[in-house]
Amino acid sequence: MSANQSIFPKTYQITPTGVEIGGCNLLELAKKYGTPLYVYDEQTIIDICTDYKNSFAKYHDVQPLFASKAFMTKAMCAILKKQNFGLDVVSGGEIYTAYKSGFDMSKVMFNGNNKTLDELKMALEYGIGHISVDNFYEIELLGKLSQELNKNQDILLRITPGIECHTHEYIQTGHLDSKFGFDLTQIDEAITSIISKYPLLQIKGLHAHLGSQIFETQVFADAVDVIFEQFKHIKDAFGIELTEMNIGGGLGITYTTEDNPPSIQTIADIIIEAIDVCSQKYGVNKPKIYLEPGRSIVGTAGVALYKVGSIKQVPNGRKYVSLDGGMADNPRPSMYQAKYTAVVVNKINETPVETVTLAGRFCESGDIIIEDINLPKLESGDVVCVFNTGAYGYSMSSNYNRVLKPAIVLVNSAQSDIIIRRESYDDLLSCDEVPDRLL
Ligand SMILES: *Cc1c(COP(=O)(O)O)cnc(C)c1O
Repeated sequence: MSANQSIFPKTYQITPTGVEIGGCNLLELAKKYGTPLYVYDEQTIIDICTDYKNSFAKYHDVQPLFASKAFMTKAMCAILKKQNFGLDVVSGGEIYTAYKSGFDMSKVMFNGNNKTLDELKMALEYGIGHISVDNFYEIELLGKLSQELNKNQDILLRITPGIECHTHEYIQTGHLDSKFGFDLTQIDEAITSIISKYPLLQIKGLHAHLGSQIFETQVFADAVDVIFEQFKHIKDAFGIELTEMNIGGGLGITYTTEDNPPSIQTIADIIIEAIDVCSQKYGVNKPKIYLEPGRSIVGTAGVALYKVGSIKQVPNGRKYVSLDGGMADNPRPSMYQAKYTAVVVNKINETPVETVTLAGRFCESGDIIIEDINLPKLESGDVVCVFNTGAYGYSMSSNYNRVLKPAIVLVNSAQSDIIIRRESYDDLLSCDEVPDRLL
């Protein structure tokens, strides 16, 4: 079983002394570091990286990149470096984090539909491996920059393959009406423009990303076919043999028992098989593959610990149990109606007796963490653990209501270390300025 097929991190254990992850007692972590607290299990991340590498091992040339928007910190970069993973980045901030972590910048791929001139300059100056060029505006920006700085730059072209996946509408990206990438009918114009005007841009291949939290498998084979068809077309039309293919990320994880994502091996087999078939079908050599998993690398590894505060029973209605975090540290439920699984850490052996709604503390009625979950009888001071919050939780967090962002600890072999310290009120004010005339 791949880690993305489990609700729990690899090292999750219920022991006689309590609930543990990475050999660390969760109640003790909550006491030591305070709540809300994000806890990441290093072993789960390592296992899933290994799973990706092993599953694709039979293919001759694969470079997995971690989609850093899912969870980007210097410690995460350090873990990935040891795993020989590269990074997919989408902003100057992510590039800077990678650079400051001593990451091998040649293993970094820069994505995004509206990269700024400053970000592109930064990418070229830091020697980023690839830029996935998304649109005509970017061809001009990057093309001129490459000439100004007199730098060669390897690029991929991001394409919209026109494949629908059955995932949440906001996280679908591969269907035709999308803000990302070139429509297939625009590829010729893009290539013509690059080769005629900007010879320092080396077109290495194509990039497609289908969406996120995907459970289907056939869509990956379909994407391979679309890419190979374009490889053949580009070879015929321009005499250019593309040698690289970025198949994106998107593999789903198990937020609740309703989710049944495929294993990484299943996805790998389908992609490799599709490449075999398409290589024959289109008479095109097998390219180097880039993978860009985000959610499936860190989602399951991370959990969030919250403390119960106020409890409100609506007469003849719901029971709202309010936690000390919510939409500012994890906006997914309010943005995507995302579902989660949770346990009460200090009542792990008690049977569920009531259906409650776990609410956040923020000033929005939509700030609900889990609606209608069966739990043991809750009291103020209880500690709740919400699973699968490792991806797109902290990375999407904000200071809404001027609430401080939580701390993050990394656990492994009974050791816990802070990898993001809890924000202080002074951190919060560190960018504030007051013009003299107001004083
Ligand atoms: C978001 C994104 C990913 C990662 O998606 P996951 O669902 O987290 O695996 C990969 N590639 C691109 C281009 C993305 O936008």
